[in-house]
Parts: sequence; C-alpha cells; structure tokens
Amino acid sequence: MNKTWKKAWHEFRYMISEIDDRDNPIIIFQRIRGWYQKNKIFLSPHLIEEYGLEELINIDIKAYPLDKSESTPQNIKRFLNLEPSSEESMIMFLRDELWELVVLKVDIKCQRCGKLEMSALFDTEAKKVVLECTQCGWSQTTDGYPDKSVKTLKFAQNDDLKIAGLV
Ligand SMILES: [Zn+2]
Repeated sequence: MNKTWKKAWHEFRYMISEIDDRDNPIIIFQRIRGWYQKNKIFLSPHLIEEYGLEELINIDIKAYPLDKSESTPQNIKRFLNLEPSSEESMIMFLRDELWELVVLKVDIKCQRCGKLEMSALFDTEAKKVVLECTQCGWSQTTDGYPDKSVKTLKFAQNDDLKIAGLV
C-alpha cells in the first residue's frame, strides 16, 4: 500500500508549526503553496483532480480576496493535533483550508435555513456573483432570490465582488 502521503502530511505539519502568530492570510496561503509544490509528488493525482487542488493553489493571489479571509495562524494550527485517517481526508482538510483562504464569506442570511454566513462564488454562465450557504448548500442571488441557473461555479475574484457590492 502506498503511504507516501504520510510523508507529505508530516511536512505539512512542520510547515504549519513554522507559521508565525502574526502571519496574515496571504502569507499563510503562500506557505501552503510552497509546501504543496514540494510535496505534490507524494499525493495521488486522482485525488488532487477530484478535490480541485490545482485550481485553488494556482490562483493569482492579487485577484482574489485573501486579505478578507478569516483564516488565522491559530486556526490553521489545529492541524497540528489532527491525524487524518486516509489520504483522502488529508486532501479534504487541505481543500477546506484553501477554500477558507480564497473564497469570501459574507454575513448574509440564507433564505432556506437562516444561517448568517454565505460563500461568494461566481457563476460563469450568468456572469455574476452568487451566494452559497455554508450550512445547507442553498444558493441565491445577491438580491436574495433563489439561484436556479444551471451552475458552473468558480471562485469569485475581487473585481466580481466589487461589481456585486460585496467588498
Ligand atoms: Zn442555508
């Protein structure tokens, strides 16, 4: 059985332990990217593909709202105490953390479940920002209407978010 991902996880934890308490989300992202570039050879290509890691890692940092991320050094250091049970759970932790850094969260109420936290994504067909509930996955337009379009979503960039009045 192939366990090279454990080496990558070991390196990941080492990288996290070196994060300074004053590091901002942009620096945290750059550190994760540096780790990824050195360690992706230890990860399974089909999982990288399935969880869209390349798309998250290879963004142009300046074009995305990383400076608005609520990700903190204290937050990411929770990984120091985590032992993933499989390579797939490790990749999921990583995907969630990158998502946390790259995707803007807004305090807008979900029209379905009432949760006051939505992710701002970009609908490439409607060519506008749509909001997706972090709790139930419901999506709605920035005006609060249900978003029923057949969606091809990608990460919203600063320019999209400005047009939508969210930043
Ligand atoms: Zn919801």
